[in-house]
Amino acid sequence: MKKIRVRFAPSPTGALHIGGVRTALYNYLFAKNLGGKMILRIEDTDSARFVEGAEKYIVESLNWLNINFDEGVHIGGEYAPYRQSERKEIYKKYIDYLLEKKAAYIAFDTPEELEAKRTQIANFQYDASTRMTMKNTLSLSKEEVEKMINAERNFVVRFKIEPNQIIKISDLIRGDVSVNSSVLDDKVIYKSTDQLPTYHLANVVDDHLMEISHVIRGEEWLPSTPLHVLLYRAFGWEDTMPQFAHLPLLLKPDGNGKLSKRDGDRLGFPVFPLNWNDPKTSEISFGYREKGYIPEALVNFLALLGWNPGTEQEIFSMDELIQMFSLERVSKSGAKFDYEKAKWFNHKYLQMKSNDDIADEFNKILIEKNIVTDTDTLVRIVALMKERVNFISELWEQCEFFFIAPKTYDEKAIAKRWKDDSSQQMRELFEILKNLDNFLPANTEKVVMDWISERNYNVGAVMNVLRIALVGASKGPHLFDIMEITGKEETLQRITTAVTKIL
Ligand code: GLU
Repeated sequence: MKKIRVRFAPSPTGALHIGGVRTALYNYLFAKNLGGKMILRIEDTDSARFVEGAEKYIVESLNWLNINFDEGVHIGGEYAPYRQSERKEIYKKYIDYLLEKKAAYIAFDTPEELEAKRTQIANFQYDASTRMTMKNTLSLSKEEVEKMINAERNFVVRFKIEPNQIIKISDLIRGDVSVNSSVLDDKVIYKSTDQLPTYHLANVVDDHLMEISHVIRGEEWLPSTPLHVLLYRAFGWEDTMPQFAHLPLLLKPDGNGKLSKRDGDRLGFPVFPLNWNDPKTSEISFGYREKGYIPEALVNFLALLGWNPGTEQEIFSMDELIQMFSLERVSKSGAKFDYEKAKWFNHKYLQMKSNDDIADEFNKILIEKNIVTDTDTLVRIVALMKERVNFISELWEQCEFFFIAPKTYDEKAIAKRWKDDSSQQMRELFEILKNLDNFLPANTEKVVMDWISERNYNVGAVMNVLRIALVGASKGPHLFDIMEITGKEETLQRITTAVTKIL
C-alpha cells in the first residue's frame, strides 16, 4: 500500500481562516491515525495575492494549536523546497513537457482582448469551441507566432481540454462524481508576466512529486478537481494520483451561507486563530488566542465541526481524536458554526486546568491593575470562582470585590433587600465579628447562624444584606468564604462603610 502522506497547502493571501485551520486539523488527524506524514506546503504562485507576513502567521497558528508537521516550509524535509515560489525551475520542465506533447498551447490574448470577447459573447469560455477564434499557437500561423514572440508579447500557457471526455472522481467524502470535460475551460497553467505556473499546475505537480497519497481540502476546491485529474492523465500519473476528500463547508451560525469574516464581525466572534494586523488595510482582527481560548479547546471544537465520533462523547484530547478520526465519519453537509459551543468547550477546558495554573495567568491581570496578593489566596479564589467563567479574563469582573471594597452598591439590590432594620442588624453583627478571632468559614458561619436564630432574624434577609455590604451586589460565592479571604479587618470595615453609606 502507498505510504500515507498528506499536505496542508495554504496560499499566503492573508490570515488563516478558521475553516483552513479545520482543514489542517483533519489532515493531521487523518495522517496520524494511519501513522502517516503531514506536510506544510506554501502555495505562493499568485504574486498579485501575496500578503507579507501571512506565511509566518500560518506557521505560528498551527504551532499554537499543536497541529504538527513532519516536513514543511518551516522545518525542511526530503522533498524541499516546500515554498512554490522556490520551485520555479521544477515546474518549467513540466510545462515544456505538456507543450511538447501538445496537451497545452501558448496564448497571446491581452486582458483587453479577453474582456472584449466576454462582452461580445455571453458566458464566453476559452475552450475547444472558441480557441480557434483567439490568438494562440493553435490558431495563428508560424509567422504570426514568431512575430508575437519577437515583440516580447506577454503570454500564458493554457491546458488544452479535449471535449466530451468523462472524468470520474471518487471522493472519499462525497462519493463518486462524474463530470463531462466540455464544461471545463482551457485553464491558464503558466503566466509569463511573473514566470510562475498557476495554482492548478503547481498543485498537481507538487502533489505528485511529494508523493501525496490523500488530498483533503475544502469543498471550494471540488470544481478544480476534474481539471486536476486531467492534468494527472496528461502526465501519465493516474496510477499514483492521490485520493480526494472534500470537506464540508463551515456555515454561518444564522442562515445558510458560508461562514465569513463579516459574520464574525457582525456576531462578535473571531474567525482567525490569532490576532491579525492586515498590512494592506491596517485593519486589526481578533484571534481566538487573544480572546483567551485554550488551544486544546479550540481543537476539540473544530474537530466536531464536520466530524462526529458516533457516540455522545464531546471532550477529546488530541490523542483521542487521532485514535478515533476517520474520513467515513466526516459529513457531506455543511457544519453550522456555533460560537456558543466554542465558549462551552473553553469553559470545560478551563475547569480541567489546575488552580495553580489559572492563578498564575490571573495574576498577570492583577499585576496590570496594581493588585498584589499572595499565591495561596489567589489559588483559593480561583477554586471558588472558575466554575463561573468561560475565560480567565472574565475572572476579574467576577472577583473584583475580593481585592477592592465596593465603591457603590447595586441600587436594585438595596431597594429589594435593605430594610429598615438592616443597618441595626449589621451593627450588631459588627460587634459579634469584632470579638471573633477564628475567621475560618466553619466558625464564622456557626457564630453568625447562632446569632441569627437567637434573635429570631430571617436568615435570608440578613445574609442578603451582608452580601450587599461585602460585595456591593447580590452576587458571589459563599459569604463565609468571602469573609475568610478578605479577612476580619476588611470585613468589619466594609460593614461599617455600608452602614454609613446606605441608610
Ligand atoms: N492553495 C490552496 C488553498 O489555498 C490549496 C488547495 C488544496 O489544498 O489543493 O487552499
